[in-house]
Amino acid sequence: KVVVVGSFNVDHVWSTDMLPRPGETLAGRYRSGPGGKGFNQAVAAARSGATTAFVCALGDDAGGRLARELAEGDGIALHAQSSSQPTGTAGIYVDADGRNSIVIGPGANAALSPAHVRAQDAAFVGAGVVLAQLESPVDAVLEAFTVARRHGASALLNPAPADAVVTPELWALADLTTPNETEFCMQLKRLGADADPVTLASQPDDALHALCRQLLPHGTVVITLGAAGCFVSHPAGDLRGDTAPCYRQPAPQVDAIDTTGAGDAFNGALAAALASAPGQPFAAHVRRAVDYAALSTERHGAAEAMPRMHELAERFPD
Ligand code: ADP
Repeated sequence: KVVVVGSFNVDHVWSTDMLPRPGETLAGRYRSGPGGKGFNQAVAAARSGATTAFVCALGDDAGGRLARELAEGDGIALHAQSSSQPTGTAGIYVDADGRNSIVIGPGANAALSPAHVRAQDAAFVGAGVVLAQLESPVDAVLEAFTVARRHGASALLNPAPADAVVTPELWALADLTTPNETEFCMQLKRLGADADPVTLASQPDDALHALCRQLLPHGTVVITLGAAGCFVSHPAGDLRGDTAPCYRQPAPQVDAIDTTGAGDAFNGALAAALASAPGQPFAAHVRRAVDYAALSTERHGAAEAMPRMHELAERFPD
């Protein structure tokens, strides 16, 4: 079982030739759909075959009703705090080259309270993994990881978005963390260490391993590297069934058309694999997550693009 604690947003997406400049009015193609890192990851976990619960905060509006309807459709147990704030939103412009500009309206997501998380204790019973990101208040995530520890679940922290502040208390409760290259460098910088996201992936493994050990000395770090897959670094005392303390897992070659939510696909699939087969080597879980995330880039959208298990098996038969 996986418990995801995090955000739900209604994404409003405009595709335009160019991103709008100050004072400019443009016409573009519009679509809207579900998003939010928390919800994307919950859908990925559920479609990866894990029993999944999602703890979040929703407004009493059309967005909140959409979240309830979609969670039910994917068999996700929803534990939503009702907020007087509007449901979270994201306004997204995408240009012809796939570049984007995004404004988030956190709304209800910013109101998720530690008290609500604590009150969902029953949802955490039997959880193997509790997965959280930082589009929700850090004190609510801290509470989730405290409850996770009490129930013997692994706490998986996806330290996204990159500008989120992770407190020392939260790092202390995280068993694993999954930054992308930008998030990894931003968080390292906050700890007083330095790394450049542009050259990160080309660094030798032992240098990357040393940086990972600075970020989370006691836990496993997985840096996602986009089309290059990911880099895994374990603490000396706990290789999680692997033989090597650090290694790379390349991603399969795919026809990526939309990488929105690729990191979310990776996190949901990794959490589901860890929770479903805890005895397997970590490398097997990582392979699964890399394949799953790669396949998600072959479709448009965030939550809607999350593959189902049979689609993964058909695309990558071995
Ligand atoms: P984020 O979406 O958070 O920026 P990444 O870009 O690192 O995260 O992507 C997360 C994962 O998605 C990667 O580890 C990889 O497995 C997969 N992925 C992303 N882009 C591609 C791509 N172009 N080809 C294959 N896999 C990809």
